[in-house]
Amino acid sequence: MHSSFAHLQGEENITEARGTGVDATMPFGNTHNQLKMNYTAEQEFPDLSQHNNHMAKVLTLEMYANLRDKQTPSGFTVDDVIQTGVDNPGHPFIMTVGCVAGDEETYEVFKDLLDPVIEDRHGGYKPTDKHKTDLNPDNLQGGDDLDPNYVLSSRVRTGRSIRGFCLPPHCSRGERRAIEGLSVEALGALDGDLKGKYYALKDMTEEEQQQLIDDHFLFDKPVSPLLLASGMARDWPDARGIWHNDNKTFLVWVNEEDHLRVISMQKGGNMKEVFNRFCTGLTKIEELFKEKGHEFMWNEHLGYVLTCPSNLGTGLRGGVHVKLPNLSKHEKFGEILKRLRLQKRGTGGVDTAAVGGVFDISNADRLGFSEVELVQMVVDGVKLLVEMEKHLEAGQSIDDLMPEQK
Ligand code: ADP
Ligand code: MG
Repeated sequence: MHSSFAHLQGEENITEARGTGVDATMPFGNTHNQLKMNYTAEQEFPDLSQHNNHMAKVLTLEMYANLRDKQTPSGFTVDDVIQTGVDNPGHPFIMTVGCVAGDEETYEVFKDLLDPVIEDRHGGYKPTDKHKTDLNPDNLQGGDDLDPNYVLSSRVRTGRSIRGFCLPPHCSRGERRAIEGLSVEALGALDGDLKGKYYALKDMTEEEQQQLIDDHFLFDKPVSPLLLASGMARDWPDARGIWHNDNKTFLVWVNEEDHLRVISMQKGGNMKEVFNRFCTGLTKIEELFKEKGHEFMWNEHLGYVLTCPSNLGTGLRGGVHVKLPNLSKHEKFGEILKRLRLQKRGTGGVDTAAVGGVFDISNADRLGFSEVELVQMVVDGVKLLVEMEKHLEAGQSIDDLMPEQK
């Protein structure tokens, strides 16, 4: 079914040749414990009775029993996959996925669990469905005129994983440092507007780091329980850092939740410019990695393969910080966002609540729509939200502006 996974069979054999089972398992993993097989599946099954995440909805005792003695060639087990969802029953603002991948093969070896999670999270996306990629910014209609009195900043980000290395919940210190080295080398070749510099977390002062976080350029410290429970924060801040161009409009996070997070952002409402830079920069980065013999994890079913199943496909989150003090108090706000296939967050990141009526509004989907289609939804949707906000501001009704379900 996943034809592009065929090459992985070979890798499995290489692992076999090095020795299997305990010997092949990373020594520092989260829940690797061969003694667990002395207990029955019932005795090992997590208590999910208080849980509300996609993993908890899907995982049954029978499924767990079938999967618990399997591991990927690098040694990732189903207990590693689900740990973050076991330790985080729910989230105050979003429906979380409750599981992570430790390597590219995770999605294949544990597909009995992950296929239904993906289907649930991505609006019925089937194991036989194929994903489409479109990184041609010329295909975006409009997007250069979001009202800057309401739209404070625009941003598009995605993640990329480098094939052959374990993902952050499972990678070793050596692998992580190798990814950092490859990234610094590749990004160092960017020129023109994209020319920039790498800043390792461990070389930054506390103040420099906090300033970058406060200015929305850098990922948060590893405080999110979602991140911690998945094992992604091990060895922090070793081999983590941020690369950015001189005017901080093109940024790459190294070794946070994904090997790479590529971000284009700027103040105001010109999403077109942001998306242009995003596509150009991203395409160049991919070429630079290819020149060094490294490709990104990708297959035609899952698109780009990333750590969190919620980010599969495009991995793209295009969003704006937008002032909606009136609309956000309207009883239909949630329904409107749902119909536009948009998602809201606080402006300090996924774990924050909105303050002062300013929201981070972005596409809810990642998979099954192309990059261009997702950014188009954001551009069109945000335009409508701003128009609604203006109506409410003037004391007018928004009944005749209610959108259809997209
Ligand atoms: P991501 O999906 O990129 O992981 P998070 O919600 O974790 O996003 O936020 C990461 C950082 O990016 C936060 O500091 C957040 O404020 C910033 N950010 C997200 N969207 C925007 C935007 N449209 N404009 C400015 N900063 C943003
Ligand atoms: Mg994040």
